[in-house]
Amino acid sequence: MKTVRTISELRAELGEARPGLVPTMGAFHEGHLSLIRAARAENDLVVVSLFVNPAQFGQGEDLSRYPRDEGRDAALAEEEGVDYLFAPASEEIYPPGFQTWVEVEELSKTLEGAFRPGHFRGVATVCLKLFNITRAGRAYFGQKDAQQAAVIKRMVRDLALDLEIRVLPTVREEDGLALSSRNVYLSPEERAAALALPRALQARDRLLLNGLEVDYFEEADFEPRVLAAAVRVGKTRLIDNVLLEEGAPT
Ligand code: AMP
Repeated sequence: MKTVRTISELRAELGEARPGLVPTMGAFHEGHLSLIRAARAENDLVVVSLFVNPAQFGQGEDLSRYPRDEGRDAALAEEEGVDYLFAPASEEIYPPGFQTWVEVEELSKTLEGAFRPGHFRGVATVCLKLFNITRAGRAYFGQKDAQQAAVIKRMVRDLALDLEIRVLPTVREEDGLALSSRNVYLSPEERAAALALPRALQARDRLLLNGLEVDYFEEADFEPRVLAAAVRVGKTRLIDNVLLEEGAPT
């Protein structure tokens, strides 16, 4: 595996290839690895991007303390047979004078978008840029971030982007908590309290979230339809969702 930091070097490495792309912010867990494995199985070349995208964090969010461990991530990616780890500096993606943004208007206003203004603008823009840089034929996302997947799929349709979006099931701990890079913020007591989130979603019962600060607990008309929720456990904000209709992913 080769770690690449610039757009020009990655383009030179890839040539005419249409790789599978797994966009990430690093701090890998089994959720990330499940996407990487799917990409490895379905593509001749696999690019994993590792970029903690400042544009998708709001004021007062956790950008500065977001977990970062490139060495560990690189080792895990290499073990999974990744070809290129694209880990650019912020200025490589947002050079001085950068001023072009993608806005998926309606889908970005509800749920996460209502609580994190500008978040999906940052997500859509960086994903479009990563799709362009890599010329990916397929890109892999987790159902854990159901609204993100819906926003990206909408952008791909609206702008007639030439790639396939693959969405894979949410990977959970044995007790049901969805894996998240942000779980490392939780104290043991908070970790125990956070279990109410998957339980409430599974039971479709908002009352099980009593005691937690709930941003939303709502059905969303994505494809597939989901029940989605965001809660705050101490200083940590967690999101999760369950499918309300049949069909992969689960
Ligand atoms: P992140 O690094 O948190 O931006 O996540 C990178 C990708 O991994 C996104 O497409 C996420 O939806 C996906 N992902 C995060 N957590 C999980 C999980 N528990 N199961 C499956 N995919 C996940």
